[in-house]
Amino acid sequence: MKAEIHPNWYAEAKVTCVCGNTFTTGSTLPEMKLDICSACHPFYTGKQKLVDAEGRVERFKKRYANFNLKAKDKAENSSKNDSE
Ligand SMILES: [Zn+2]
Repeated sequence: MKAEIHPNWYAEAKVTCVCGNTFTTGSTLPEMKLDICSACHPFYTGKQKLVDAEGRVERFKKRYANFNLKAKDKAENSSKNDSE
């Protein structure tokens, strides 16, 4: 290897995930903290993990529960107005 151009290599860099999983890997960083890893990512666990901290999905469902009904009412009302 050419001298003075390569970053430090940590063969046993410690990786810590918020789920509690830790493992070591080779890296140029001595330590890493992750939000998600192969032990807790839905792709590997096969479970759906919905990141919905503020209940946004519920709010969306509530808001658009009557969406089609409202659109129908509007259409009926506007057709009445046209005939008058
Ligand atoms: Zn994890």
